[in-house]
Amino acid sequence: MLNINDSITKLKSIGEKRAQLFSKLGVNTIYDLLTFYPRYYDDLTNPVNIGETLPEQKYCIKAKITAPVAEHRIRKNMVIYKTKASDGSGSVNITIFNNKYAAASLKMGSEHLFYGRVTANFLQREMSAPEVLPVSEQIIRPVYRQTDGISSRIIAYAVKQALSDAEIHESLPEDIIKKHRLTNIKEAYKNIHFPASQGALDDARYRLIFEELLTMQLGIKLIGQPKSELNAPVVKIDYTREFFDKLPFEPTSAQRRAAAEAVADMQTGVPMKRLLQGDVGSGKTAAAAAVCYTCIKNGMQAAFMAPTAILCEQHYRSFLKFFRGTGIKSALLLGSATAKEKKIIYEQLATGEIDFIVGTHALLNDNIMFRNLGIVITDEQHRFGVEQRASLISKGQNPHLYVMSATPIPRTLSLAIYGDLKVSVLDEMPPGRTEIKTYCISSAIRERAYNYIKKHLDKGLQAYIICPLIEQGEDESLVSAEEYAEKIRRTSFRNYSVGLMHGRLSAKEKDAVMNAFAKGDIQLLVSTTVVEVGVDVPNAAVMLIENAERFGLSQLHQLRGRVGRGEAESCCILVTDNKSETTKQRMKIMCSTSDGFVIANEDLKLRGPGEFFGNRQHGLPSFKIADIIRDIDILKTAQHEAEDIIKRDNTLSGALYVQLKSNVEALFEQVGIEALN
Ligand code: ADP
Ligand code: MG
Repeated sequence: MLNINDSITKLKSIGEKRAQLFSKLGVNTIYDLLTFYPRYYDDLTNPVNIGETLPEQKYCIKAKITAPVAEHRIRKNMVIYKTKASDGSGSVNITIFNNKYAAASLKMGSEHLFYGRVTANFLQREMSAPEVLPVSEQIIRPVYRQTDGISSRIIAYAVKQALSDAEIHESLPEDIIKKHRLTNIKEAYKNIHFPASQGALDDARYRLIFEELLTMQLGIKLIGQPKSELNAPVVKIDYTREFFDKLPFEPTSAQRRAAAEAVADMQTGVPMKRLLQGDVGSGKTAAAAAVCYTCIKNGMQAAFMAPTAILCEQHYRSFLKFFRGTGIKSALLLGSATAKEKKIIYEQLATGEIDFIVGTHALLNDNIMFRNLGIVITDEQHRFGVEQRASLISKGQNPHLYVMSATPIPRTLSLAIYGDLKVSVLDEMPPGRTEIKTYCISSAIRERAYNYIKKHLDKGLQAYIICPLIEQGEDESLVSAEEYAEKIRRTSFRNYSVGLMHGRLSAKEKDAVMNAFAKGDIQLLVSTTVVEVGVDVPNAAVMLIENAERFGLSQLHQLRGRVGRGEAESCCILVTDNKSETTKQRMKIMCSTSDGFVIANEDLKLRGPGEFFGNRQHGLPSFKIADIIRDIDILKTAQHEAEDIIKRDNTLSGALYVQLKSNVEALFEQVGIEALN
């Protein structure tokens, strides 16, 4: 018997050469092969009556040959064979190209399966080049992701060998299998590749998805677990009221409630783990500042991590304003700081001279030590992985964690991504916000939109134009920010000052552009999505977004949130020439609601989690079979089970969990975290 961790070259059908091709598919071991799940299946088990087939759809039919095969030589290398087949409900003309072997099997009166597209020609149905299979092949057939030189058939053959030659041990404890009535692992592998029936396939999928999600949830819980309980820094006195009283505006009741919820958590001595959700502009920063202020006044240091330099700078400015006259010493740490600047900051963090630091990933540097880090705040669009938060947290003695997010996601999902955290919601907007009118237009009437923008610029207001790319790339249909700015400077906007902003500018250049825009020296800013989060220029009243179909709805909503921050009535113009139904539907949602929660939910539904969270930006391991949105019910079950397991054995050290533990480790190795230690 082969071991599941053996190389696939131990299988008879796979030599060195083929193994190299398999490696391109990420398949190196027998385990990789067994978990290389089919992309979809051809269901040949239920042949359809010919009389019920509709044109232009793919079917499996089971029919007898009713006419002798006629052979026509079309060209030198092209022979076509024509015949007719019938199943009693109707008949279909069959055409086979060049395949002498298939044609020879089509004897008068013999019965076969034909799998392919049905077309209709003057009421007579036809199948052109169908797959011809023996009647015994009425199976659910796996279809795999292929690569050059490796067909689905070759993969299926190798999997069959693996199933018969390798020793497959159960990975889940017996009681869990019983409790959830799971198929055992061997059956599950067998049926995920070669389903005996639709029911067997469903059971296999359930078992494998459950196991994958359980493994993920165990990892998240183990990473997020405080090393020892009940020794988090304690907030003794609540200073949030003192903080709010100093603000130039009246906090919303949602902001007061959120701050109070956080403070209550931090009074218990257990590390807080809380998510602060609120739509764009709901005032998350002020709420978070109240929480920080309270921690700092209680003698702790606070660290605030944001994904981009622009965002950090802006938060830093806001906090300086919030903390003015309080004696709190704040600092900003970006990757672009000089070695000397960094050294000073590191020293002052270690001595405790700095109370509050804002920074990018630069905060994760190994040389950074805090004297008394009491709270970690992250502001993110799912840009920080579990391991990055964990890494910052490890710089303190069980500090509190406060995660800010503008994208509301279902409770189960936030648990899946952030671990076991509580949620505060800012469900109320500060007063005086006006609705941002949103329109969708085609590029044909772009000039009219330009005139509309000019009218605003002439009134002393400002505007953004967002493009999906920095420079012109392969995809000619996409508008690049660089060329765009150049062009409108020469043409439509030659009498205005046009600025250009994109992620490849240096931090200094970005600063200069942002400052010029904030001061009003730049009237019209052409930009990529770097302005997406946080940027706050209240005098900007119009935003035009090119290739709007390219952006996710939540991203469009974030972008749109850059206008409508001042007194003036604001508007957002989405430009797209994409005519697909999905695009139409998505644009309609954007034009009809300004509720970020509704938009995020639609976005999730329309795009699925992969795109929604961006390319693995959520920092979770990638899944082989599970989909955390589609499988949200299984995710819930897995969450409960993970909780139960952790309650019984919070390090997974028991003999029962040996296999499970090593699976958790393997899963999280991909994202570079040691889940267990
Ligand atoms: P978010 O991060 O939730 O998008 P911000 O915290 O950036 O929102 O707040 C947006 C703007 O609203 C900021 O200029 C902020 O100073 C202001 N603001 C926050 N809370 C209030 C409030 N209660 N009343 C008036 N303005 C507020
Ligand atoms: Mg913000």
